Amino acid sequence: MDKVCAVFGGSRGIGRAVAQLMARKGYRLAVIARNLEGAKAAAGDLGGDHLAFSCDVAKEHDVQNTFEEMEKHLGRVNFLVNAAGINRDGLLVRTKTEDMVSQLHTNLLGSMLTCKAAMRTMIQQQGGSIVNVGSIVGLKGNSGQSVYSASKGGLVGFSRALAKEVARKKIRVNVVAPGFVHTDMTKDLKEEHLKKNIPLGRFGETIEVAHAVVFLLESPYITGHVLVVDGGLQLIL
Ligand code: NDP
Repeated sequence: MDKVCAVFGGSRGIGRAVAQLMARKGYRLAVIARNLEGAKAAAGDLGGDHLAFSCDVAKEHDVQNTFEEMEKHLGRVNFLVNAAGINRDGLLVRTKTEDMVSQLHTNLLGSMLTCKAAMRTMIQQQGGSIVNVGSIVGLKGNSGQSVYSASKGGLVGFSRALAKEVARKKIRVNVVAPGFVHTDMTKDLKEEHLKKNIPLGRFGETIEVAHAVVFLLESPYITGHVLVVDGGLQLIL
């Protein structure tokens, strides 16, 4: 089987670290984000024959076009990572409906659309591996993140159901659920205060999450699993 991996949200943060690790392991990468320049920079940094694409995962048309372009230029996508995500934190009573919709569309609907688009090829070739990036708050909930938590909790239900649906086709679907990780998404958080509550006493690094993602992508007998990578945060939440 070809080793072509699409990383949505691959231009920055966790997705970028996954792309770097997969490139080092000999995969051909599609680095995808809304900002094409960011995706191009990330793909260029990988060295070798990798490509960048612009796509908003919340838009079905964009997702379909991107899969067509990837297949044309890279071949069949048999590894898929959904790391595109946004947060609009705040108490529910102060959250605008448009911010609810954008989080659900990007974090949950977006992964549904990319998984659906990937299925055609994966079913045809009777194989494929998907990792969706969830969050520890999707399992435990967090005050000030009710909508974000719902989007990530929904991703777990979706991934486990899809794993059941396509296991006979030798397609695997897993989730990595990180805690706090140093990326643009967490740069404005009060780290000194928050890390006191993390059993391992620090935020995670993107490469530490990337290793978990790649482990699940490449583990032939694991499907429907949620791998928590959170420095022990789940122990106290
Ligand atoms: P970053 O903000 O660093 O990167 C987000 C990536 O997603 C960028 O490449 C961004 O590119 C892309 N993206 C955002 N919205 C869209 C969209 N609509 N369509 C396509 N691409 C999009 O985030 P992280 O690396 O921190 O987060 C990665 C994933 O991990 C997310 O799902 C996040 O929810 C999850 N997570 C992060 C944690 C953390 O502590 N950092 C903790 C738990 C989970 P562009 O803006 O150009 O589109």
